[in-house]
Amino acid sequence: MRSMKETVTAEPAPPPAPGAERYLALDFANTAIALPGGQFLDLLGTPATANQWLTERGLAPVDAGMREMCAAQLRSLRENVRALLASRVAGLPALAPALSAVNDALTRVPTAALLHWDEKNGPYRAAPHPTTQIVDHALATLAANTADLLTGPDAERLTACGSPPCTRYLLRHGRRHWCSTRCGDRARAARAYARRTGRETD
Ligand SMILES: [Zn+2]
Repeated sequence: MRSMKETVTAEPAPPPAPGAERYLALDFANTAIALPGGQFLDLLGTPATANQWLTERGLAPVDAGMREMCAAQLRSLRENVRALLASRVAGLPALAPALSAVNDALTRVPTAALLHWDEKNGPYRAAPHPTTQIVDHALATLAANTADLLTGPDAERLTACGSPPCTRYLLRHGRRHWCSTRCGDRARAARAYARRTGRETD
């Protein structure tokens, strides 16, 4: 079904990070995946993959008619969500533009038919384009879940994966602070290597 063009990398996406199954916001933040060897996998990289990601989470029909602009809106919100997660993990104040972007998405009212007014027809109401409605609804849902995550009791366990180059976020269980077995194995191997070589690798 997928064309060759959409195959970004040979390495498959890692399984969902701990917590991503409960928080759409985490799942969303983790759609930008840095893989070892300088590879980068973006699950929202094209309108087709963005549509698929939303469909798999019940946020869009299979044929939502996504355009590049829609995918770009999702990627932009993702960067702002990631900025807020990073602030929370670091215990730093939020960046104002990230906060505004999430609040803008949160306060969209996708079902409202807006009032239009032109010289020929006078005042009338018209619903936004169906695709715009779908995307706005998805953005609002993702933003709302981000707010839930950041203000809920699980925010204490929010952490960034401790295995470079991985940049995924997860909810920590005990002392484990990597997002996958693969990242844990890599972190342990890096530590063992550092011990063997007398930590001269820096
Ligand atoms: Zn990781």
